[in-house]
Amino acid sequence: MSTHYDIKQEILSKFKCDRCGECCKIRVYVKSEDILRLAKRLRIKSGTFAYKYIQTKGRFKFLKDPCLFLTNNECSVYNARPDVCRLYPFKLDMPVLQDVEGCNLSKDIYNVAQEIEQIKSSKFMPQQEFIENVYKKRFGDKRGEDSTKDIIFSYEDLEYLAKELRKRKDILISWHIP
Ligand code: SF4
Ligand code: SF4
Repeated sequence: MSTHYDIKQEILSKFKCDRCGECCKIRVYVKSEDILRLAKRLRIKSGTFAYKYIQTKGRFKFLKDPCLFLTNNECSVYNARPDVCRLYPFKLDMPVLQDVEGCNLSKDIYNVAQEIEQIKSSKFMPQQEFIENVYKKRFGDKRGEDSTKDIIFSYEDLEYLAKELRKRKDILISWHIP
């Protein structure tokens, strides 16, 4: 479970997702807990699941992409989906909102954060030094190609955003139900 998993889910629950399915067409990282949960959902052994649905890169495991569980633009294993899918467009283990072309959800969250920033001074400003350090720690000098436009929060910012959203009644309902 990532740090601030619940906070990210709470934030996502305030927004509407277009259900465009674009995030199901990229590489999805899976942890052992995800594999066990999905195998249980499909009533198959985790080894069989891994053989059919997983690709490995180095020490990391991913769903084969595009995801085989996407059927008619719907997730066929929604309640058992990997944590990465539950938190998208947030990154799993970092307080990072991915700026994804075509993802209305990331744009909407960003816009609200910016709006709050205007009211509350310097909160939600990208913290370049922070993210550089996080990426460096995780990936050495190799930063992800898609990371350059990511929006970086501190964990305090995320908590602050969640707190502000709790006060609002006009936020759309999300399909990101935990
Ligand atoms: S999270 Fe973004 S990319 Fe994924 S289905 Fe929703 S709007 Fe589309
Ligand atoms: S498991 Fe579901 S939500 Fe995750 S990528 Fe596949 S279809 Fe999309």
